[in-house]
Amino acid sequence: MKRIAILLASVCCVIAPKAFLSAQNSGRTWIANVTIISPENLGQIQTGSVLIENGRIVSVERKAGAKAPGDATVISGKGQFLIPGLIDSHVHVTSIPGMGMVPDQLKLNEPMAKSYPRHEKMVESYLKQLPRSYLYYGYTTLVDLVAPFPEELHAFGNEPLHPDLYDCGAALPFANGYPMVYAPPEMRFKLFPNFIYDPAQAASIPAEYKPEDHMPAADVARVRASGGICVKTFFERGFGGMRNLPVMRPEVLAEIRKAATENGLVLMMHANSFEAQKFGVNGNVDVLAHGMWNWGALDGATGLPDEIKKVLDEIVEKKIGYQATIQVLSGLSAYFDPEYLKMAAIPKVVPAEMVEWFNSPDGKWFKKELDDSGRPDAAVYEGLEHGPIHHVRLVAGYLASKDANFLFGTDTPSAPTYGNLPGLNGYLEMHQLQKAGMSLTQIFKAATINNAREFKLDAQVGTIEPGKIANLVLLKKSPLESVDAYDSITTVWVHGVAIPRASLAAQ
Ligand SMILES: [Zn+2]
Repeated sequence: MKRIAILLASVCCVIAPKAFLSAQNSGRTWIANVTIISPENLGQIQTGSVLIENGRIVSVERKAGAKAPGDATVISGKGQFLIPGLIDSHVHVTSIPGMGMVPDQLKLNEPMAKSYPRHEKMVESYLKQLPRSYLYYGYTTLVDLVAPFPEELHAFGNEPLHPDLYDCGAALPFANGYPMVYAPPEMRFKLFPNFIYDPAQAASIPAEYKPEDHMPAADVARVRASGGICVKTFFERGFGGMRNLPVMRPEVLAEIRKAATENGLVLMMHANSFEAQKFGVNGNVDVLAHGMWNWGALDGATGLPDEIKKVLDEIVEKKIGYQATIQVLSGLSAYFDPEYLKMAAIPKVVPAEMVEWFNSPDGKWFKKELDDSGRPDAAVYEGLEHGPIHHVRLVAGYLASKDANFLFGTDTPSAPTYGNLPGLNGYLEMHQLQKAGMSLTQIFKAATINNAREFKLDAQVGTIEPGKIANLVLLKKSPLESVDAYDSITTVWVHGVAIPRASLAAQ
């Protein structure tokens, strides 16, 4: 983690961001003759004009021919569509695609840890491009779910153009459980300072960590003190070579629930199995941070089993926020898909040297971690497609038919994979959600108003209404007519600053 911190410190503070912003957003901007698509007002979509001043939306005129204030810069939106900036409520900005978070490097990937210094320059240019890639695809607000070291996030915010970044502070894994188990025992307690103490494991927890400092209430209080807006915890028994990991009991989740409520924080749970989601639903979490692709004993079922439907019905009834994160799985199958690295969008979101590295044998190291059975790529790909991806699609489709509280979240990057690239991964996730059965309206709301409401950011973002931050996206196509519209962006406004999309591309 130290290496990353040093690296980030070296890329930050090159350009003074505030001066840049204030030079451009003090004036008034009038976006004229544009079709205004705002999620609270989908019943009456009309052509009109929007006035921006000092980084905020000042007025929204839903009629043709409204007059621009004399001193305003007029931007014609004729024939185009204006939407609120998009929100991705599940990202990891300090995790590097194709490399992973430092704990992953240490444990999963010894060779990577050794070769890392060779890639320092590449990572540095990636981190400079990262915020711009999110903006390139219209994401102006992000929530980072695992942020134990705030200084790492500061580098992101210090780039001159960046989305607004919120976080869940340091996450709350169960002692020696997922994901802290991926770090070596002597490191994991430092890397996960908000781990939950388990008296049954006292022998394997260093004595310097006192039980009272690692009870849920103390952990949650630290998240709040660090400025977090959410609490992230986990129910995961493991996969691959790491199985039968310790998980929390319902009483522990109940304590986290109580503390999160008392502190006004959103409670999010990593849960991707039937067992884990059932556990989370029974414990009244606010958000399930993944789709359900692991059905456990029901994995052999072809359709959606009734037992699973029952849990999904409860998710709908309790209005639990649902992040389907289908791209987590496609981010793995990318290594077995001969077309993935050929996508023309990839050089737009990551630097050229990184694309080159992804295409090299060294850059594909993670493929062997995923499958070293020697099966043909097509067989591995199909295995994922017909197994977990099929499952998560059925689940998301069922929840869509019940109009569940979908929250748009991508988990970018979810592993040390090059299959989850910033910005582009959101666009691909939208395609996945549509394929699973979500309507374009559901996708649009999930990425705007639903996220804003769930994370209590709706006074600031999520709609086009007076008083909100002027985070806006102008598109050539309507996102209510095709999911491709999200790739037809012409301009993005961040706090009132207009940025032509083309200028945000890496190459
Ligand atoms: Zn995640």
